[in-house]
Formats: sequence, structure tokens, C-alpha cells
Amino acid sequence: MLIAEIALPVPMRGHFDYLLPDSMVPQAGTRVLVPFGRRKLVGLVMACKADSDMPADKLRRVEVLLDDKPVMEPLFMQWLTWASQYYQHPLGDILFTALPVNLRKGLGAEVELKAWQLTETGHDVDPSELKRAAKQQALLAALQSGPVAQEQLSNSYSAAIFRALADKGLIEATTLIPDADKQWPARIELAEKPRPNLEQSLAISAIAHKAGSFNCFLLEGVTGSGKTEVYLQAIEPLLKQGKQVLILVPEIGLTPQTVKRFQLRFGVDVGVLHSGLTDNERMQVWRQAKAGELGIIIGTRSAIFTPLASPGMIIVDEEHDGSYKQQDGWRYHARDMAVVRARLENIPLLLGSATPSLESLNNALAGKYQHLLLRQRAGEAKPVQHQLLDLKGQQLEFGLARGMRQRIQAHLQQGNQVMLFINRRGYAPALICHQCGFVEECHSCDRSYTLHRSLNKLQCHHCSDAKPIPHACAQCGASPMQPVGMGTEQLEQGIASLFPGYQAARIDSDSARGKQKLHQLLEDINQGKHQLLIGTQILAKGHHFPNVSLVVILDVDGSLFSADYRAPEKLAQLITQVAGRAGRAHIQGELWLQTHHPAHPLLQDLLNNGYQHFARLALKERRFAALPPYSYQALFRAEANQAAQAHEFLLQVRQLMGIGPDLAAIGPIPALMEKRQGRYRMQLLLQSQQRTGIQQQLNRLMGQIEKLPLANKVRWSLDMDPQDFT
Ligand code: ADP
Ligand code: ZN
Repeated sequence: MLIAEIALPVPMRGHFDYLLPDSMVPQAGTRVLVPFGRRKLVGLVMACKADSDMPADKLRRVEVLLDDKPVMEPLFMQWLTWASQYYQHPLGDILFTALPVNLRKGLGAEVELKAWQLTETGHDVDPSELKRAAKQQALLAALQSGPVAQEQLSNSYSAAIFRALADKGLIEATTLIPDADKQWPARIELAEKPRPNLEQSLAISAIAHKAGSFNCFLLEGVTGSGKTEVYLQAIEPLLKQGKQVLILVPEIGLTPQTVKRFQLRFGVDVGVLHSGLTDNERMQVWRQAKAGELGIIIGTRSAIFTPLASPGMIIVDEEHDGSYKQQDGWRYHARDMAVVRARLENIPLLLGSATPSLESLNNALAGKYQHLLLRQRAGEAKPVQHQLLDLKGQQLEFGLARGMRQRIQAHLQQGNQVMLFINRRGYAPALICHQCGFVEECHSCDRSYTLHRSLNKLQCHHCSDAKPIPHACAQCGASPMQPVGMGTEQLEQGIASLFPGYQAARIDSDSARGKQKLHQLLEDINQGKHQLLIGTQILAKGHHFPNVSLVVILDVDGSLFSADYRAPEKLAQLITQVAGRAGRAHIQGELWLQTHHPAHPLLQDLLNNGYQHFARLALKERRFAALPPYSYQALFRAEANQAAQAHEFLLQVRQLMGIGPDLAAIGPIPALMEKRQGRYRMQLLLQSQQRTGIQQQLNRLMGQIEKLPLANKVRWSLDMDPQDFT
């Protein structure tokens, strides 16, 4: 009697034991179909064993073995098992998150091609017996050594020939799993490349020196310093040896330009993975990567789960980017997963950023990561000049001070492009009654609706609730309501009147909905169809705009006084990244920040000394306050229709956890955004000087927490290393 331990995609810890039919001896990592309650589920075989803790008559049977070969290698299972422990998340859910949707659904893991083969009769016939039918004779001869794919034959033989032989009972249709085509290293054709400068050369040779074993590098290079060029030259020797490279990029930083750059350099296909693909497209890249048919795979967060037949290196570009952290379900951090994967696969990991996260920077400064610095912009590009404009007492038009409007005009007259950054989409963040002060608020979230003129609607940005724009105040009946504050839509309108004769492009998640649209916009911008670019976050990420000479951040004040201890880091990263869009080619770049607080120490430090200085100072502050990365955090979140229930649940969690000298707790307190979609949101933050402090407690207590009576009444989750406290 053989028993299989099977992981299932259900929110329960541990595996499940199933009996195996006599004839079935599955390998670990293959999929099976099993009964579960009244359903049938696709499961993953973890191991086989002779006995179970469950009595044999209670065990149910595996029904179907779905794979001949494992869809997941032992090393991957080890990696994900670690993740299940670390993130305190059910293993089955993690394993299935890491597989493509097609495989979760039980579809085939291999491509099957239509093919032809000889029948038994066909084997007994000598092709020369078909003398009077030369084509049939040739086809019969072609099949002598085994099945051949139809696509290889259909150029030489018409359908009538196949039919004739099939009618004679000599050949029959079959399917064929093609051999992996691993010939890409031979097809590499290197394009011309720039000669690396001194710092680039040092970085490239430091990486080459550690090829073939685990080592973690932090490439800290100012924007436009040629980090991508370092990636390109660092992976070149690996690719030539047939080693594969996995490159992660932020969600909205993945553009056809990026992919093209790798394609053009090496002249080989690049596998691309992002959220806009169909399940079949994803499956195709996954399969090719696993079979070793692709040398380069570029993708967003979940691409970290792409299996590689011969891994050479993992690169995480813009490693500080928030999109690497999954924000619901299994809340993994793709960069942290990459570190552990690279260690297990024993390959180098290259983290790159102009604005490294304080976590990675700390690891580099502490010597855990090898620190590679690029202090200068590559090629001809000059550093961006940074300036502050004091908004106090200024007459603003569409959020722009007079001096600023003149500067913009001057840059436009020189034929350059100007980028205006405002972190708020829509027309205005609120609609207020000028008579009574009433504000239109979303009842589910207690936040004001955003006015969207282009949609002719009020929209809540925290749930997806929308409603028509009211003609009169719902409270006092006065009309009309007034917009307050400014978003991208309003700025776009204002710009048209302030700078007539120039074309403005608005780039936010409304105007750039759908990948194609964004790409078209970016294309148009680089062809000079627009002179003024108005945008949100989307503009900040990695894009290359060679003709932008001036970048203006309209208002940073909102982020200067946030309750989130990560806010200064995020603001500094944003400002630096936005500034980095300017002057990337031959033109001198200029950054202007408008603020009511020009003397604010964060702004002063960042502008005078740059991100590198700011980040090192910020690390000192974190150390002083014993905040991450000098301590470790886990955040319990709970939400319920009644605030008291969520509060009570977290209070019980807190009592169970046993707060003491090794483990501090804050809360339960309301989340920064206390109500959302009609539910009240509470948080309990755990913090310890040692990672193990939190881990041990959670290992011991998660089972008990799950069994608390309130655990089924409130919606709750655990977030290890939380990044976001809203
Ligand atoms: P980053 O990834 O740091 O933003 P890139 O690698 O995109 O920087 O480089 C910015 C620009 O400088 C690109 O146009 C790139 O081709 C160019 N570049 C990079 N390295 C060099 C070099 N050594 N010599 C000349 N140009 C370079
Ligand atoms: Zn809402």
C-alpha cells in the first residue's frame, strides 16, 4: 500500500494523505486529480510513503495522474516550503500560486503536436512496393524511423497523400511532444555595444568574478548611469554558455523598449511575462523557460516563479519598487523570494536601483551584499539640477507659480519637452458646496469622491463606487458644487490655456488604460508629438525621454507629513526617479519642486546631497528608532462590519502572542484608512529585534489564532515585513 502526500490549493495548513492505486507511483512534483469533499481538485504530489497517521479506511484515492514528468522540481518545492513557513501561509496555496493558471486547472503541461506514424500493417510494407505512387512512397519512407510532426511534413505532402496512405491502413494520426529546442546560444548575434566607463567596468568584472555561485549584488547607480548596460554586459558570458537569465522589472516599467533592448543586443527571442497576457501565452513562456528554450525571460512580480532549466542569474531591476510586494492573498515580496531562490540555485542575484530600498542598502553597507556604485550618468548626460520653489504667498494658476510658468515657457521655446508631475488623477479630489461646506463622500469609505470630468462622474478611489455629478448640494440645495484641489485632468485643461500652441499628453491610469494605449502614448511622446507631459506615478518609472529638459513636481507637501514611517523613503525615491526622467541625453536636465516647506530637512538633504546621502541618513534614523531594517515586523490586519469585532479579535491575538522584552506590539489601532468598502479596519503591529523572535511565536501560535472563535467572523490576514499601512 502506497500513500501520497498531496498539497491542495485550499486555505488549510499541511498536506493531505491519499491512497495510490497499485499501478501508480508518481514522482514528487507531478499533478494528480483527487476527490476533496464533494469536489475534485488538482493536487501536487509532495512525497510518497508507506503509512499515514490517518486510518487506512478513512483515506480516499488518487483518481488520475496528470503528468509523466514533474511540473515542479524538488528545489522549487523546497523554496516554496520555506516561503510557507516564513510568510505563515498555507503551502498548497503558495505552490499553486507559483504555477501557471493552465496547470492549476489541470490542463496539459506539454505541447502536443499533431503527427503521423506507421500502423502495424504499415511497418510490414516496404515503401518500394508503392512504385507507382512516388509521393506516397516518399511519405512512407519518411515515417520509417518513428512519428513525425504534421507541420514538418505538410510542406512536402498534400492532404490527399496522407488520406491515401491512411485509407490503405498504412499510416495513422498520433500526437508528438517535440524535443526542446535549446539551440539559442548558437544563434546569439551580438549587436554593437558602448564601451563601459570605469565604474561600469568594475561592476561588470565584479559580477563576472562570482559567476557560478550564490552572491548578492546591489548595483546602486544614479538614474541614467547605465545600469541596464551593466546588466547587458554582465549576462553576456552567461548566455554564451547557455545559461538562462531571469529579469524582474516593476509592473509599469516593463515596456517594449526594455524588451527590445535585450532582444537587439543578443539577437535572440526574449520571453516576456506580465499581467496582460492570456493564460495560454503565459503557459507558453513558462514551458519554454522550463525546457531551456529561452535565454532571457523578462517579467513583473510573479515572473519570479518561472522555472529555469539552466539558471545563470536573476536580476531585479528597480529593486525598491513597491510593485514587487504582493498586496493580498499570499503577501510575498518578489525581491526577497529572489534572494532565497538564488541561494538555493547557487547563482548570483543582481539588485539594481538608483534609489535602493533601505533594506537592501543596509545589507550592502553591512557587507552582506556586494555593493557596486555608479556615481555618474553614462555617456554625455549631465546630472540633473535640483531646485525648490517656495509656494507661500504665490499667485497660483492651475497649481503653478508665476516663476514656474515662465520657466516652462522658456524650456518649451527651446524646443524641449516639459514634464509636470502630480500624484492625483481625475479632475479634482473633492466636490464641495460653497454655501454650506457639504462634501460629497463615499459612504462605504468615508472619503471624498474624486471628480472625473472626462467620465462625467464622481468616483471613489478606494472602492470602485461611482455616481453622477450632482447638479445641486445634497444638503442645502444650493448649486452648483465647486471642485477643490487639482488632479491631472484639470491640469491638462489648464495647461492648454496657459501654453497655447503646445500639445499636452496626460499619462495616468485613466488615459493609459490597457498596455497598448500606454505604449502608443510613450511612442508619440518620443516622436515629439507632445511637448508637455502631465502624469502620475506611471511617468516616474524607468522610462527614457531623451527630450525632456524640465521636470516639475507640483506639490510634495502632502507626503511630507505622513504617519507612515516609510513615507520619507518613498517620497525621496519618487522625487529622485521623477527627476531622473530629465536630461537623459544631451540636454541639461532641471528639476523643480513646489512646496510650502522649502526648509524641510528631508527636501534640503535630498536636493543638496542626493538620494545616496539621504538614504544613509534615513538609515541612521531608523536605527535610532529601532525600525526596519533594524527590527522585524509582522502586521495583523482585521476588518469587519463592526469595528469592535475587528478590535476584539486583534486584542485576543495580542494576548496570545505574549508581548514581552523580545516582542513589542502596537495596537490594535485603526488602520490609516479606517473604513473601506463599508468595513472597519484595524491593525496589530508586532515588532522584534530578531527575526526569529516573531517567527517562533507565530510558528507556535498560528494554529491557535486560526481557532479563535472570532477568526471566522472577521476578515483577517498576516503580512510579514509589511510595506504599507493604509
Ligand atoms: P539606467 O539603466 O541606469 O537608467 P541605461 O543603461 O539605460 O541607464 O543608460 C542610459 C543611457 O546611456 C542609455 O541610452 C545607454 O545606451 C547609455 N549608455 C549606458 N552606458 C554607456 C556608456 N558606457 N557609454 C555611452 N553610453 C552609455
Ligand atoms: Zn468608496
